[in-house]
Amino acid sequence: MSSQTPDRCFLCGRKVFGLKGWDAYYDTFLARTDADEDRIVLDKGLYGWCHGVCLPIPGHESYWRRCLAKSLQEIRRHHLASRLLGYEVFVHQPPERRKGRALWNKLANRAYFVREDGLYWPIEHAPKLSVGTSGMVHVAAGSLVDSYLDLSDERQRALHAAIASKESISLRDAAACFGVEDLYSDLLLANAQMVTDPMNTFRNIGKESGFDRVPCILSYRYRINPRLLEAAGIQLPVGT
Ligand SMILES: [Zn+2]
Repeated sequence: MSSQTPDRCFLCGRKVFGLKGWDAYYDTFLARTDADEDRIVLDKGLYGWCHGVCLPIPGHESYWRRCLAKSLQEIRRHHLASRLLGYEVFVHQPPERRKGRALWNKLANRAYFVREDGLYWPIEHAPKLSVGTSGMVHVAAGSLVDSYLDLSDERQRALHAAIASKESISLRDAAACFGVEDLYSDLLLANAQMVTDPMNTFRNIGKESGFDRVPCILSYRYRINPRLLEAAGIQLPVGT
């Protein structure tokens, strides 16, 4: 399985949906250029999309975490606010004396959570939060997802038909279609919905080699420990 295939995990070769809190994308531009490890990691194809459950990368357990920390601090104006629960929490540091500061703040993500094994995701300034079970907080999220559907496969053809008819389908059904239910097994995902993205339907034109690229929007919720949100300066919902 080629690591360059856009929607496949470079570690296990299986389908990745690209969900915040679950999956991560390691772009080659994040690779530091001052270490032999860069070349080794890139030569081995250890970049692109990856499932959080597949991490850490054997032999390079902290590589992408270090690259992310460097990029966040040196380029994206975030500072390390806290280390707790196996995460580093990077919070946006707005520039001093800068015109258009409000716009800058609005566009920048409030914080990034970076797990020890390199899984990471950003969180906005005002995320939609709700109190969940076991003291966890649920964060509403959405992703634009490109699914490469194999039209010679009966289940993927059925999924294509459901999406094409603008039905809302569950992420659980989509995961079953690709045989990755075990990777996205959290109960919250039962409520995750996948719908066609009307803004990108033009990209759905042209089928090549029996595959079709289907742009969709996924809405879902993920769980997070409220202490991490607190460390990021995010106001917690009542009841936590
Ligand atoms: Zn994987």
